[in-house]
Amino acid sequence: MLPLFAQYSDLPALQAACLVCTRCNLSQTRRNVVFGAGDPSARLMLIGQGASQTDDRTGLPYSGPAGEYLDKALQAAGLSREEVWITNVTKCLAAKEGKDGRAELRTPRKAELDACRPWLEDELLLIRPAVIVAIGGPAAQSLINPGFNLTEQRGQWYDGPGGIPILATYQPTYLVRLSQWDRPKAVAGWHELVADLRMAAERVIGDQ
Ligand code: SF4
Repeated sequence: MLPLFAQYSDLPALQAACLVCTRCNLSQTRRNVVFGAGDPSARLMLIGQGASQTDDRTGLPYSGPAGEYLDKALQAAGLSREEVWITNVTKCLAAKEGKDGRAELRTPRKAELDACRPWLEDELLLIRPAVIVAIGGPAAQSLINPGFNLTEQRGQWYDGPGGIPILATYQPTYLVRLSQWDRPKAVAGWHELVADLRMAAERVIGDQ
């Protein structure tokens, strides 16, 4: 369910407020809030789970190697980053200390997801996409249902927030890592990612 009305009158006002958000603990460790980017009138919205370490530095979603991979997949599906809106369920980096002492990504906690949800809801209300693609299992669990199984349920249509049609696909980061130890599976995943994005683009055209 989405609220009936956005809290902010337009996207710039929403972004300005979000960029200084301190609603959860992630505000104490982030460098930048990673607000959505792309075409504000996009009919297709891509939603990942959270900011990467590169995104945290740049303030832009999917700005690292995963973003380059996603750009290539969008291109292969006949799309471009400039014509979609890309955002995340949580707008700040969620990291923990890894075994070697370096920071590594962690899954956002429920309190962080709940605190950040109103920003995403306003993004949805102000952009009003016709179709959503959830990028990765955790995003699908936040947006479709908590028990979502990406392996079994990817590439299928569901009712997303506000009844907007949504399908889930692979997280580019997963496919980039997979290519290092199981290249055939990674190649198959690439083709499925492109097919999912193409299906979403065709649904946008079909709904016009
Ligand atoms: S993750 Fe979301 S709720 Fe938490 S500080 Fe960042 S923008 Fe605010």
